[in-house]
Amino acid sequence: MTSNRRTFAIISHPDAGKTTLTEKLLLQGGAIHLAGEVKARGQARRARSDWMKIEQQRGISVTSSVMTFEKDGITFNLLDTPGHEDFSEDTYRTLTAVDSAIMVIDAAKGIEPQTRKLFEVCRLRSVPIITFVNKVDREGRSLFEILDEVADALALDVSPQSAPLGMGGLFTGILDFASDTVTRPEGDSREYLGKREAFAGVAGDLPGDLAEEIELVREGYPEFDLEAYRHGDLTPVFFGSALKNFGVEELIAAIAKWAPPPRPQPAGEEQISPDRDEVTGFIFKVQANMDPNHRDRIAFMRQVSGTFKRGMKLTPSGLGKPIAIHSPILFFAQDRELADTAEAGDIIGIPNHGTLRVGDTLSEKNQVRFTGLPNFAPEILRRIVLVDPTKTKQLRKALDDLSEEGVIQVFYPEIGGQWIVGVVGQLQLDVLVSRLEAEYKVGANLEASPFATARWLKGDQKAMDEFEKFNRANLARDRDGDLVFMAKSPWDVGYQQEKNPDLTFSATKER
Ligand code: GDP
Repeated sequence: MTSNRRTFAIISHPDAGKTTLTEKLLLQGGAIHLAGEVKARGQARRARSDWMKIEQQRGISVTSSVMTFEKDGITFNLLDTPGHEDFSEDTYRTLTAVDSAIMVIDAAKGIEPQTRKLFEVCRLRSVPIITFVNKVDREGRSLFEILDEVADALALDVSPQSAPLGMGGLFTGILDFASDTVTRPEGDSREYLGKREAFAGVAGDLPGDLAEEIELVREGYPEFDLEAYRHGDLTPVFFGSALKNFGVEELIAAIAKWAPPPRPQPAGEEQISPDRDEVTGFIFKVQANMDPNHRDRIAFMRQVSGTFKRGMKLTPSGLGKPIAIHSPILFFAQDRELADTAEAGDIIGIPNHGTLRVGDTLSEKNQVRFTGLPNFAPEILRRIVLVDPTKTKQLRKALDDLSEEGVIQVFYPEIGGQWIVGVVGQLQLDVLVSRLEAEYKVGANLEASPFATARWLKGDQKAMDEFEKFNRANLARDRDGDLVFMAKSPWDVGYQQEKNPDLTFSATKER
């Protein structure tokens, strides 16, 4: 069976044009559903804006959402990745839920740090990448410089699919190699409004050096190779301007034509195929709902196989007993009233009260366990200190909730009552403090902790018990009660690992 689903993300460095491109893709597709908006009505919207304040102040996106559009019989599920580097863990998980990605590069800036970081995450999972070189309506680097930088910096074959006829003030259109046509700017805004001409009629007007450059770009790079692209070894490159609408059509067509339909997902030794009859999926994100009085959340499930129907019973691996999914949020439908089925590749939002956690598998038969959605060892650890010490119970509840959601990790030391929170990026700490206040009415301060990082301990029971006996001052339990070694330095980890070869000090944990 061939699926008409394309589930993808856009990766980029802040300011490269991800938001603008997203808007243009959605405009072309027509239907727009913003996951974060679905339940945000009236009072809920106000409450939500409380902790979203941080987001506004910093002008960054803390939460990610699902946006779906349909075009020419293809359903595109675009998952938004938070662009800020602080949120690498959240971003990582979102990228586990996509089958391919678009990498947006600023034509003047080339590969920037965040682009590279996100690219590396894609590479880990062989996620195929289509490259969009944006802002050619402004002065940029030479085509060769851009193409060669992508190739060298990311160790990828590049296969240009188009070329701008001049950049900045000299920009006169984009040549699409496959159709041999040129899209042209029109009007005062110099936008693409649908004017397309055969290249043959235009070529003669090009200055000699530009004509030569275009010819070299066209002939001097590898041809597109579907296999190599799907393996993540080659990236087709499109030039364009999201702002002026150049290259957007071609990008959508390329995703429809080349981007992989839903891929099989790893579950231990097995690969679960999208063709499997049983409905299976995994939770890659949990978003607190916007109403602090009800504390309900939406868990985002990437469907891996089967045909989901509203009201269906699925068993979450973390719970062990089935739950009926009566009010799923299905982002793909043009008309939400009619949306009551979903296919492999789709994202289903499941409202719940904390039963569903990131990394959980949901399935009909409760036999599959998806793997590859780890927690990462935190790089920042802080002691959490209550302003009002009588609020211990509320704090514990809040920390448990927020760690379920993946906002923070929490560690309860074996000795003493000083709880530690761990995060991968600084911004998560601000979110924590702000949400404790707003949603749990708990005032808390964060103080320095003696620990630099944490490692999950694994090994046979005897070795674990023995280690625990002598190291209780440096041990804690996480939200699930698993034993964690709290290290004062990375050196500490290496030292203990050497001294205790029977134990594994793991920087990641799979649930
Ligand atoms: P994001 O941070 O990656 O989401 O970037 P935005 O989409 O917010 O764009 C950053 C800035 O670049 C905004 O001022 C956009 O208007 C501008 N921009 C985006 N695309 C283009 C483009 O194709 N050409 C030009 N000249 N500006 C662009």
